[in-house]
Amino acid sequence: MNRLVENYLKIKSELPENVTLVAVSKTKPTEMIQTLYDAGVRDFGENKVQELCDKQLVLPNDINWHQIGHLQTNKVKYIAPFIYLVHAVDSEKLLIEINKRAQNFDRIQDLLLQIHIAEEDSKFGLDEAELFNLIEKLETNIFQYVNIRGLMGMATFTDDEIKIAKEFRGLRKLYEKVLQQSSFKEFNILSMGMSGDYKIAIAEGSNMVRLGSSIFGERN
Ligand SMILES: *Cc1c(COP(=O)(O)O)cnc(C)c1O
Repeated sequence: MNRLVENYLKIKSELPENVTLVAVSKTKPTEMIQTLYDAGVRDFGENKVQELCDKQLVLPNDINWHQIGHLQTNKVKYIAPFIYLVHAVDSEKLLIEINKRAQNFDRIQDLLLQIHIAEEDSKFGLDEAELFNLIEKLETNIFQYVNIRGLMGMATFTDDEIKIAKEFRGLRKLYEKVLQQSSFKEFNILSMGMSGDYKIAIAEGSNMVRLGSSIFGERN
């Protein structure tokens, strides 16, 4: 068997059954994606809109494309016709644009709200107050074309596993709080964990991990 496929299957087999594995294929060639696709893989993640659209154009139509990185408002229109799940919604402005474009294409867009849990300033995301402020608006009937499926977050890049666990635990708590306090009908995704920290994330309740380098090898 192909080594890439073998590697993917090994990682997948070690995950609990309820955890969705998103193969983060950014910077990797379409041939590698096709190889995994031929082995049955359907969930792929990209963080750059241009690269995502280029790949979507030449790869099979039934791939579930995940937009995992920060999304600029002016780029939404390019992915709106086909994107499966937007992981990093972090402002009302972006939400308004996604809702508008989804309406244009007669789609209901699934998305996750990104929460800022890391200590670094550079990582995007909402704080708790902003989250509940946004949820209040989402509970009105303004946003008819988006479906809030859950939360996403990225932990601090560090070797300190206790710190990482703490950050993921905080996100899990927020997730539970939203579950209790909102009326979202399909709120069931907690996207946390990358190659370096996904085992900790799963121990803290993640049910969707986004793995790039551990599947495809290091990026250049
Ligand atoms: C690149 C990226 C990943 C995957 O990172 P790896 O460390 O290669 O697993 C996950 N999530 C986001 C948002 C990313 O940009």
